[in-house]
Amino acid sequence: MKLLNILLLLIVIMKVKVTLDRENCIGSVACVTILPEFWKFNETEGKIDLVNSKKINENEYILELDVNEEELKKHLEAARSCPVNVIHVVNLETNEKLV
Ligand code: SF4
Repeated sequence: MKLLNILLLLIVIMKVKVTLDRENCIGSVACVTILPEFWKFNETEGKIDLVNSKKINENEYILELDVNEEELKKHLEAARSCPVNVIHVVNLETNEKLV
């Protein structure tokens, strides 16, 4: 990989919040196939776990992250892959909901 590409991968471009409405997860594991380091299937409960997230109420979990361009693309792809739209990504600097 060229040095410029390596440097671009290291540049943080955005602070985001990934949210999960876990109660409505149907366990399709689409998100796991895209970002297995963040999404783990809990076989006992038949639901997904968002690694290192905080539980903010009965059903909702959040994870705040600094992401570079490649990481942002992956998080957006994972959220868009969810067949029941229970994953969302918010730009924490503008509060814009990206997915
Ligand atoms: S893609 Fe959506 S429904 Fe499927 S496991 Fe992930 S959060 Fe659950």
